[in-house]
Amino acid sequence: MHNKLQLNKIPVGISSCLLGQKVRFDGGHKEGRYITKILSNYIHWLPVCPEVEMGLPVPRENIRLVKIKYNIHLMGGKTQTDYTRQMHQWSKKRLEQLKSENLCGYILKRSSPSCGMEKVRVYNEKGMPHKNGVGLYAQALKNKYPNMPIEEEGRLNDPVLLENFIERVFAYYRLKNLINSIPSAKEIIDFHTSYKLILMAHSPVNYKRLGQLTANLGKAPSTDFLNDYVSLFMKTLKFKATAKKHTNVLLHVMGYFKKHLDKDDKKECLEIIEQYRLGYVPLIVPITLLKHHLRRNPEKWLVKQVYFNPYPEELMLRNKI
Ligand code: SF4
Repeated sequence: MHNKLQLNKIPVGISSCLLGQKVRFDGGHKEGRYITKILSNYIHWLPVCPEVEMGLPVPRENIRLVKIKYNIHLMGGKTQTDYTRQMHQWSKKRLEQLKSENLCGYILKRSSPSCGMEKVRVYNEKGMPHKNGVGLYAQALKNKYPNMPIEEEGRLNDPVLLENFIERVFAYYRLKNLINSIPSAKEIIDFHTSYKLILMAHSPVNYKRLGQLTANLGKAPSTDFLNDYVSLFMKTLKFKATAKKHTNVLLHVMGYFKKHLDKDDKKECLEIIEQYRLGYVPLIVPITLLKHHLRRNPEKWLVKQVYFNPYPEELMLRNKI
């Protein structure tokens, strides 16, 4: 039975071993402390271990990806048992079941022949490995849910990739809630407007394309429109928000209330934004200063921008980028 807090948490799928479940081939786990201690406060995890759920025991023989002619197979390292068909069939069924969980993101275990998202070892028929594969379950997951934010636990050690992933998870959660509520055209426009600064920070080109898309929205959003919007919106957030693009956004924000600032405040804002651009201070510093001025001069359009609060502050993700 879920308590209220749990229901308010965002549902995210995860490789079971990252939650500390002892499901690995050697009977161990790979608990990610940041995942279990910090992200758990905001996320409701849905653990999946493809190898165990499709019927393999713990412990079990090591399995790996092997390229035979033109096809990738999932094979037992010792017994040479071919698990490919079993994994494909199980993945298809399980991923269909996951629809009802309304997942808003997924964290996968790196290097695994089942869960690895990229650079998984693929052995050739002579037993030589090349790190260019994708785990069979991970590939099926990506195909089935192309808009869902998916990351590997190893890549989340990079503060920029972590911030990007969390921002996308919260955005996808909001967007899915909106779509599930069968929104009016106005509600779509309000959502889009609230994300304008974030979209600009990721891709000014796609920001314009999304603007053109919403301009042709009509009175009631069609299914085609919603599919196109969600797809382009989520693709846009995947672009790296660089210091240069954030700097443009910060200067844009400043432009809105600079008439209210005196000479010294203006100078201070410009200096802090420049320090951020040069990498001397993290993003949280200019954002905090601009939020301070925004509180004193609440500009209607700016106050609604998710850019100022894309996810809980306690995660402190902008202190490291
Ligand atoms: S990497 Fe995937 S298949 Fe392997 S133990 Fe973890 S959850 Fe199971």
